Amino acid sequence: MNNSFIIAGVMGWPVAHSRSPLIHNHWIRQFNLSGAYGFFPVQPNNLESAIRGLQALGLAGCNITIPHKVNAMAYVDWVHPLAKRIGAINTIVVQPDGALHGFNNDGFGYIQSLLDAQPNWRADAGPIAVIGAGGAARAIVVSLLDAGATEIRVINRTHDKAEEFAREFGSAVFSVKWDAREDALTDAALLVNTTSQGMHGEPALDISLSNLPTSALVSDAVYIPLETPLLKEARLRGNRTVNGLGMLLHQARPAFQAWFGVMPEVGAALYEKVAKTI
Ligand code: NAP
Repeated sequence: MNNSFIIAGVMGWPVAHSRSPLIHNHWIRQFNLSGAYGFFPVQPNNLESAIRGLQALGLAGCNITIPHKVNAMAYVDWVHPLAKRIGAINTIVVQPDGALHGFNNDGFGYIQSLLDAQPNWRADAGPIAVIGAGGAARAIVVSLLDAGATEIRVINRTHDKAEEFAREFGSAVFSVKWDAREDALTDAALLVNTTSQGMHGEPALDISLSNLPTSALVSDAVYIPLETPLLKEARLRGNRTVNGLGMLLHQARPAFQAWFGVMPEVGAALYEKVAKTI
């Protein structure tokens, strides 16, 4: 680690809602580092110049959030193979030679959040039902496959997108029609909602859990509110639940390590600090 002041931040539009500055600045203080993490509000038409400016400004890198995660890939010099498979980046690290490297840590964050809830969790414990086929689903499905999942049922309102998933991600991924979503829960070991349904201001995800074994883990990528209607229903019927905040907190860890040189943990103090803002 050198002694210079290290600066990183999050590029998004809008970006004021992002919890990333709270997370990274917590760790900067915890490790007594010399640095700061800020908000970078970047309109879509300025994305390329903002990314190209990282190196010129001497920044360590940045996170990339909505709506830039897919488009930003075109403006970095190298994309990690995992991020390529996901089709989006959420982190840029400026290399010592100035090259911009793109990563996607969302799937890492998701798997870590499951392990927090259930340290002996295994991806091959049984069929996995994934609701949704958007960006969050791509990160989650790729990381579940890499963790050893043997059967992933992708269920999406627009069935064509679920079929594309099954084609793209290979023989362990199956598409299920929206109307058959409840049948797909029978014998599932893990259910994950990757849609925006259940988010504050959105209706609850339209699904009955009556076919789901109570031994199944139920997780939600949504973290506002922390307990979505899906997670509440799951908890009340006896399923173990995992909210979306763990995914958000854990995805930040590898980026922080790349920029600041220390791999942080997600402790109770950080969890409480961020949860209080939700
Ligand atoms: P996205 O790419 O726009 O995908 C949205 C998905 O939701 C699509 O599959 C869409 O289905 C589905 N959907 C939308 N409205 C629906 C409805 N009324 N009924 C059923 N399905 C519906 O969005 P995303 O980037 O994947 O984000 C999805 C959620 O994940 C957001 O709430 C986001 O905040 C959350 N997220 C959390 C984290 C975290 O760190 N915890 C990280 C990333 C994202 P169609 O294909 O039919 O439109």
